[in-house]
Amino acid sequence: MINAHIHIFNYHFIPEDFLKVRLDGILGSKADFFLRLLSSKAGRKLLKILGAQRLFPKVTRYAEFLNVGLFETQDQLLQHIDKSYQGLNTSYVLLTLNMDYMSDQGLKGGPKIETQLAEIMDIKRRLGNKVYPFLSIDPRHLGGAELDAWIKQKWATGYFSGFKIYPALGFYPFDERLKPMWEFANANKLPVTTHCTRFGVNYIGSGVWNLIGTRPLSVNPDPVYMQPIYERIQRYRNYQGPARKDIQGNAWACNLFSHPSNYEPILVKYPDIKLCLAHFGGAEEVLAETLFKGKTEDEVKMLDNGVGNAAAYISWFELIKIMMAKYPNCWTDISYTLENTKTFPRLSAVMKSPIADRVLFGTDFFMELQDKDESTVLRNFLNAPDFSATEKLQLYEVNTHRFV
Ligand SMILES: [Zn+2]
Repeated sequence: MINAHIHIFNYHFIPEDFLKVRLDGILGSKADFFLRLLSSKAGRKLLKILGAQRLFPKVTRYAEFLNVGLFETQDQLLQHIDKSYQGLNTSYVLLTLNMDYMSDQGLKGGPKIETQLAEIMDIKRRLGNKVYPFLSIDPRHLGGAELDAWIKQKWATGYFSGFKIYPALGFYPFDERLKPMWEFANANKLPVTTHCTRFGVNYIGSGVWNLIGTRPLSVNPDPVYMQPIYERIQRYRNYQGPARKDIQGNAWACNLFSHPSNYEPILVKYPDIKLCLAHFGGAEEVLAETLFKGKTEDEVKMLDNGVGNAAAYISWFELIKIMMAKYPNCWTDISYTLENTKTFPRLSAVMKSPIADRVLFGTDFFMELQDKDESTVLRNFLNAPDFSATEKLQLYEVNTHRFV
């Protein structure tokens, strides 16, 4: 079995202000208390105990998520997930993540990406085919010739199997500076996994409107594909919604970076890549009829990049299916989406369609711990009557092997 989507970076690589924004959103007035705990070794130890003993029912799930993120080494996170897969002989796609540019404080104390990668390379050196590391790329880290040289140097180690990008952290996947990555991936027929949900982790700095831009340069400037994207950006810029008001509003704006249509210029230009639009749009998009439930008119507008017509809404789940049918180099995974068992009938229908050979099993460890623990997610999937034994095998064995 291969789990095609996990993360094992720990708190060493996460900017401080990320935790602040995140905790404020989840814990409200308790956020400062938790942040203080996080800032000392004794506090982190205490948090682990609190999480383990479930003393805070309301925040227990999140405390358990923090506990894992607070493991001292990436190795410990890998050992932790592997406990849930005993007897299943599982390998993991390790998606590294450069978070140095996601906030105003990301570079405080120096860039952290090289340390994260050095640890991952050490794990690969020791464990061989137990792990398949994907190299995280961000155009603000390196671009053009510098990025080209960096990628080749990393590939020469023989430790990497593919690339990971996370546009919601503040860039477009078609960004011209990323050209060396797309060309290298295409020439070597490599997999690239990108985060594709409307919400999750996103850019939390103060410069979001600069990053959004007006007509960002593209690796494929063909107006057939770029014009609709520029129109969407313009529509969002014209829309004077509550999103403009504060950092929390970045989450809405970051929809623009992650939109599935942003990959069309790439899929057309680079036919030999294996591009995975991860999460199939996310559980909310799979169950799209509930997406607008209880939302204000403004929220509906923001959700849909300023369009705001709930009746005509095409969910990201539907959009990804259309793109997969159109482009044979377009893949998806069902990580984190699996966490919500209501999505199973719809995912199972996909496994009976012509695109079934490009859907991958993954869980998004340890992100999914915010909602459910790894063993439960895995057990729910393996025991689900919605998928036949052949379909399960296709998801976690056949397709994942072809992908990596
Ligand atoms: Zn992920």
